[in-house]
Amino acid sequence: MSNRVYIFDTTLRDGEQSPGCSMTVSEKTRMAHKLVELGVDILEAGFPIASDGDFEAVDAISREFHWVTVAALARSCTLDVERAARALEHARRPRIHTFIATSEIHLKHKLKKSQEQVLDEAVAAVELAREHVDDVEFSAEDGARTDPEYLEKISKAVVAAGARTVNIPDTVGYSTPKEYGAIIGRIVQALGDCAIVSVHCHDDLGLAAANSLAAVEAGARQIECTINGIGERAGNCSLEEVVMVMKTRHDMYPYSTGINTEHLYSASELLSSIITFGPQPNKAIVGRNAFAHEAGIHQDGYLKNKSTYEVIDPKSVGVPEGKLVLGKHSGRHALNQRCQDLGFSLTREELDSLYHRFTALADRKKGMMNEEIIALIEQTQAKQVAAD
Ligand code: MN
Repeated sequence: MSNRVYIFDTTLRDGEQSPGCSMTVSEKTRMAHKLVELGVDILEAGFPIASDGDFEAVDAISREFHWVTVAALARSCTLDVERAARALEHARRPRIHTFIATSEIHLKHKLKKSQEQVLDEAVAAVELAREHVDDVEFSAEDGARTDPEYLEKISKAVVAAGARTVNIPDTVGYSTPKEYGAIIGRIVQALGDCAIVSVHCHDDLGLAAANSLAAVEAGARQIECTINGIGERAGNCSLEEVVMVMKTRHDMYPYSTGINTEHLYSASELLSSIITFGPQPNKAIVGRNAFAHEAGIHQDGYLKNKSTYEVIDPKSVGVPEGKLVLGKHSGRHALNQRCQDLGFSLTREELDSLYHRFTALADRKKGMMNEEIIALIEQTQAKQVAAD
């Protein structure tokens, strides 16, 4: 089995459909540029039956980006599949992604259908999708809570009908790594090399990345994820987290992706500027504090050797130097180092004076960026000149 893991980005679909995240067609196109530059393998651009905006976004992205697979979502029914196919008409590499719920809870309370009915509709939708495109993905919604025997049966049936990718989502973010790995392992075993098994995890219990990686260890080779982990409720698996785990801990997860990690930070920034919120400051990889070493002891060790407190080089994910925060607990050593990095060489008196102003201000501001530090240095030096 190949160790290449495909990254299926759903920022523009699952992410976009969550509160505060809706995007216009031109915003989606701008974000798509960044995602292509980042190197995602599959770009899910929308759910064409859901709205005209979604249809237009899939159509626009299909026309513009030829080297990435463009996916469109469709429920397992004729109307949805036909609409997705039309939106993808101009895509060089179109994928129809059709889904239906398979868990007992969803069948009983939501669909009010039997397992047989659902299986028939899934197979019919995949067959119809295959009349339009070669690349069809099937998702068993709420797969992690589906009877494993039925899940295996429907997975085999859709592959026989022509699906190339079978996605087993943890739609409600309820599964755990050990449990999810076992569910995925069984489907990988059942399908052999007839299809790629995909995962789609939500973060309701904070386990989306851990569950996705457990699935990869069990043989899944596609991860569905989003920038900044945006998505329904607590969000989807965060793209930057799973990618950086596989890169940083390649010894434990010997898999590769096509992601150019130095674009991760700018992708996160662009998304934040388009939607209504950014990642929380302590978010792994892309949060404002993800590479901030504030406590004096940490800073001292870090300045002697970065590996003492840093497992990821911020440059490897594209964080610009000026985004690294200094705080009131930063020592004189760290401040002096930052001044030198910024191209200032200070006398002892200047450093003393600067340090005094810095700690007073950092106390109130809870952390300072380079621009603020430069302003302080300039004030300090101007004052020093006036005193001389
Ligand atoms: Mn989802």
